[in-house]
Amino acid sequence: MRKPLIAANWKMNPPPAGFDAKDSPFRSTKTVDVIVFPTFVDLQACLDAKLDTGAQCAHAAEKGAHTGDVSVRMLKKLGCSHVLCGHSERRQEHGETDVQIAMLAATAIRQGVQPVVCVGESREERESGQAKDVVKRQVETIVASTVSGSLIFAYEPVWAIGTGTNATPEETQEMHAFIRSLLPDAIRDKTPILYGGSITPACAQALFALQDVDGGLVGGASLKPEEFKKIVEIAGKSRKA
Ligand code: PEP
Repeated sequence: MRKPLIAANWKMNPPPAGFDAKDSPFRSTKTVDVIVFPTFVDLQACLDAKLDTGAQCAHAAEKGAHTGDVSVRMLKKLGCSHVLCGHSERRQEHGETDVQIAMLAATAIRQGVQPVVCVGESREERESGQAKDVVKRQVETIVASTVSGSLIFAYEPVWAIGTGTNATPEETQEMHAFIRSLLPDAIRDKTPILYGGSITPACAQALFALQDVDGGLVGGASLKPEEFKKIVEIAGKSRKA
């Protein structure tokens, strides 16, 4: 049984009020793992608040001439447990390629930091019937360089991120099952596959109930603690045998 996981991607925003409170909705519970992904400058505050904390990106190299970057090794030393790899905003705004993302995921595994790898197609790619080809290429590049290391995937259709339109349950289950089918036997059943893209309390139940959905990567709603709390509660009730 895979424990549901809800990841809060705060993007380039400060942590929401009360993130560090004792009863913060950003704390893992008995039934749900919750990981927060703040900006680099807020990592320490989240770690001080004893939240399970990851970075939104990192550089695959250990150190060196990479102005503006932070290495996985540095994040590990700070106390981060997870790192997002290949969020679509990194792919779009910083030109991160499948190969760079795969190198980052491989480095994270070597350093003992859990990679959360984002994959997903654009609207044009879906409309032209290429969604599965794109996701296959993204997943296979990661799998080839991480040789059955521990992975978490987040299927995030780019057209659903920050748009208020989530993928339908049918579209979601079809792609999650497809992603699972691409994974090596050794990790297929134990790899969590999160859905991301305009998750709200209104759509969470239908999505988290799906057989191959193990939780969510939440952007906008993770900045609203009341909404986020409801999403975590819904995830807690969605455990599947
Ligand atoms: C994201 O950026 O990973 C995301 C899923 O954002 P949103 O929930 O706002 O669509």
